[in-house]
Amino acid sequence: MARVAIAGAGVVGRLLAWTLSRRGHAVTVFDPAPGAGPAADGKGAAGFTAAGMLSPLAELEHAPPEIARLGLRSLGLWRQIAAELSQATGEAACAFARFDDSLLLAHPGDGGAAARVLARLALAPDIGAPEALNTQALAALEPSLAPGLNGWRLAGEGQVFPQRVLPALAEACPASWRWGERVESVGPGCVLTVSGERCACDLAIDARGVGAALANLRGVRGEVLWLYAPGVALNRPLRLMHARHRVYVVPRPGDVVVVGASEIESADRSPVSVRTAFELMGAAVSAIPALAEARVLHMETNLRPALPDNLPRVELTDGLLRVGGLFRHGWLIAPALIEDALAAAALH
Ligand SMILES: Cc1cc2nc3c(=O)[nH]c(=O)nc-3n(C[C@H](O)[C@H](O)[C@H](O)COP(=O)(O)OP(=O)(O)OC[C@H]3O[C@@H](n4cnc5c(N)ncnc54)[C@H](O)[C@@H]3O)c2cc1C
Repeated sequence: MARVAIAGAGVVGRLLAWTLSRRGHAVTVFDPAPGAGPAADGKGAAGFTAAGMLSPLAELEHAPPEIARLGLRSLGLWRQIAAELSQATGEAACAFARFDDSLLLAHPGDGGAAARVLARLALAPDIGAPEALNTQALAALEPSLAPGLNGWRLAGEGQVFPQRVLPALAEACPASWRWGERVESVGPGCVLTVSGERCACDLAIDARGVGAALANLRGVRGEVLWLYAPGVALNRPLRLMHARHRVYVVPRPGDVVVVGASEIESADRSPVSVRTAFELMGAAVSAIPALAEARVLHMETNLRPALPDNLPRVELTDGLLRVGGLFRHGWLIAPALIEDALAAAALH
């Protein structure tokens, strides 16, 4: 049994704690958040702000095939984690994650944007292929869509519900959770808190998202809107390949719909801009007209942790592991990335 100390309880930190505890290791986690519960203030883990889409195929638009392959492996691991969380909490597995499909959409006038994305998706045929839908098939899957849209189904894509998964990962895991504790530094076999406590361990892990000590790490601003849309039946995540504004619309429990997301090269966490809100809402309503009568519940900004190549990095030296830079794919790739990192650290 190894003693492991983790700085950061976001997507990476909580999944590491969950996995290592289940393997019998003694885990301590430090995070400045007041507790495990859901947060919607955009001040803590980006994982809470995220849409939670698990889209290996659709993300080929933005990322190389190795990200899609990590994502595909992670989909299988998420199925397992959702089943384990269900067992631990008594809630149905579908309260944590769903694995049906997602849709790509394009207005007829945006054929150029759609053609480019579809060409990118063809780069990794082993990941899957979009299935073009005719008008009737599209309307049958999503009756709320505007007429005339073109649509493609991406079978097997999924989504997690961050506000349920993150708290459950912490609550159902026997690690020692040190909430309200900010970490000053993470070194080989040692985590030092801002209050001056030194936590000695066999392996110290830096999983502090945009706060991790990785060279050239930056924050990339992302803004999302939460809408209350009773009566707008949405059954799966949708992405609109708009010529100007990329937008996705993701259904959440309780008639809530998350619309996202901007991607701005700035570490500015200030509130959502009028421009972003206007563009995201306009594009979303163009695809789902009934959303015009939805109510804005709240808007949220957070930072994606990114490295210059926008790829994740795992750095392992004696007694020290850093995992970061998961950019816009943290939920998608974390389980497989962590599996590989722990295998490299020989923590079985
Ligand atoms: C708007 C938006 C939409 C997104 N949508 C998706 C999506 O649909 N699918 C997807 O796969 N990914 C998505 N992402 C990306 C995903 O959220 C990130 O890749 C992921 O959260 C990164 O995980 P992480 O654990 O490295 O960082 P985080 O989740 O940010 O967690 C970092 C943790 O470290 C803690 N911390 C920071 N500093 C310290 C310190 N000094 N001491 C101790 N703890 C500290 C923080 O409080 C936080 O809890 C989205 C991100 C954003 C912003």
